[in-house]
Amino acid sequence: MATMRVTAPELAPMMVAQISKPGGDFEIVKREIPEPGPGQVRIKVQACGVCHSDVFTKEGLWPGIQYPRVPGHEVVGIIDEVGAGVSEWKKGTRAGVGWHGGHDNTCRECRRGDFRNCRNLKVPGISYDGGYQQYMVAPAEALAAIPETLRDIEAAPLLCAGVTTFDSLRNSGALPGDLVAIQGIGGLGHLGIQFANKFGYKVAAIGRGAETAQLAKKLGASVYIDTKLTNAAEALQKLGGAQVILATAPNSKAMSELIDGLATNGKLIVIGVASDPIEVTPLQLITRTANIQGWASGTPAGEEDTLNFAELSGVRPMVETYPLEKAGEAYARMMSGKAQFRVVLTM
Ligand SMILES: [Zn+2]
Ligand SMILES: [Zn+2]
Repeated sequence: MATMRVTAPELAPMMVAQISKPGGDFEIVKREIPEPGPGQVRIKVQACGVCHSDVFTKEGLWPGIQYPRVPGHEVVGIIDEVGAGVSEWKKGTRAGVGWHGGHDNTCRECRRGDFRNCRNLKVPGISYDGGYQQYMVAPAEALAAIPETLRDIEAAPLLCAGVTTFDSLRNSGALPGDLVAIQGIGGLGHLGIQFANKFGYKVAAIGRGAETAQLAKKLGASVYIDTKLTNAAEALQKLGGAQVILATAPNSKAMSELIDGLATNGKLIVIGVASDPIEVTPLQLITRTANIQGWASGTPAGEEDTLNFAELSGVRPMVETYPLEKAGEAYARMMSGKAQFRVVLTM
């Protein structure tokens, strides 16, 4: 890792926002522009989303992570160099990289076609340097094509927050007209509400406080449940019970309290990352034949589906942008929980 090194003038050094130790602050440093190896491409990064899962890199919470490390797994840019053996991607093509940063094609899950759950899944910004930099190298199998009409700053959050909500909902089993509840109106939830609305569900948005009610309706919710005033599970039962509850806020207690809001055969889908337990009794599950399921991100093909659907339907993330050199400030803003709603770095 060459930092602050003087390089030949024809190869201008690039700017990078890196973390050099667990819990360290963001450092803006210069590095040489990396060359793509066989099977890889180099992306001139235009935008990179700041995701809560960047905490794994910032705080050193991922087993085996090595430093210095450049975070970022919501990357959108233009392919500007192609390594040996890459035929399907050309220079000048817009491309993105999300949480799914590469798979091995050899593990049991890959051999079964379940690439999303590859045992050796690579994550940009954790397994290798991600998108908080001007140029990034990524394996070709991790790339998603970006539709023409999506702006860089709109496409970036769709590569993680977007595909997670889109894919979990489209695989949830809910049918058009079903009641689907979205818990949490934040980075994930504001996309979940939009996708659920465009999928034809009756959408109940569950938030805390009256402030977000209007926005939730504007995004496509037909009902707003304020947990400050109402027991959300009871409110859902009054509406017939939710076929699916998509739990986006990382609050296990709030998730636990929603389980009684499920319809028979209903499903609580957990995408908000928390580490304390969800509490449920066997009786609660058995009496309504309920399911609780986790969901992680999606494949590059799923990311493309998400982007294409967003282009088709008008689903867009709401973003706040910061220049790359303010990565620390952008990360702090994301962590504050006050951003409306995704924070995106521009290069
Ligand atoms: Zn993410
Ligand atoms: Zn694999």
